[in-house]
Amino acid sequence: MQTIAERLKSAYVRIEQATDSANRPRNSVRLLAVSKTKPVSDINQAYEAGHRLFGENYVQEGIEKINQLQHLTDIEWHMIGPIQSNKTKLVAENFHWVQSIDRAKIARRLNDQRPTTLPSLNCCIQVNINDEDSKSGVQPKDLPELIEIVNSLPHLTLRGLMAIPKAEMKTEEQEQTLGALAELFSEYRTKLSNFDTLSVGMSDDVEAAIKHGSTMVRIGTAIFGARN
Ligand SMILES: *Cc1c(COP(=O)(O)O)cnc(C)c1O
Repeated sequence: MQTIAERLKSAYVRIEQATDSANRPRNSVRLLAVSKTKPVSDINQAYEAGHRLFGENYVQEGIEKINQLQHLTDIEWHMIGPIQSNKTKLVAENFHWVQSIDRAKIARRLNDQRPTTLPSLNCCIQVNINDEDSKSGVQPKDLPELIEIVNSLPHLTLRGLMAIPKAEMKTEEQEQTLGALAELFSEYRTKLSNFDTLSVGMSDDVEAAIKHGSTMVRIGTAIFGARN
């Protein structure tokens, strides 16, 4: 059995190899360790190994871990799961990033509820890039309007886009999907300051995502092991 530290190392090597193949700088892609359903002791092991970026999907579970690890003040916590209106206050008060904004109402509530004592909340808009009913995220056609709204909110900083492409696509469809996402990203990257994050790529598609400009990959299972 490999340790969490060893699996993290492998994930970093995989990112280095993918950035090398894509002729991109090695430090142009960040690794978000997705710790959902995993105990605080696992996060501690990754922290001890030098890792600082963690992603959680469920608000209540995430907050409990954030509270238990309050003493580790340099962890950057990312909310990456769907957010209901009645949970926005907890998210606004506890996370550093929210990657799963998919509608104006949630964005406005996060903005209004972000404590003024904290820096603005870093946000990505989640795009439903394959138009799947089962996935949250804004349709590409509705993206311009939502970008404008989020960008106008003073306590949010719009950092970029997040997507969860369809699982198990054939290479051609995967290329098309990631290409379309990259195009959306680069359009706004040139227009907006602070817009520097394309969060795409999970265990199965890290290499393809990095080839298509991903700046943040999100990996859970390959670091912490399978979830129940
Ligand atoms: C669970 C999850 C991941 C990580 O998935 P793994 O298959 O465990 O690597 C990444 N992004 C999101 C949004 C997730 O919900």
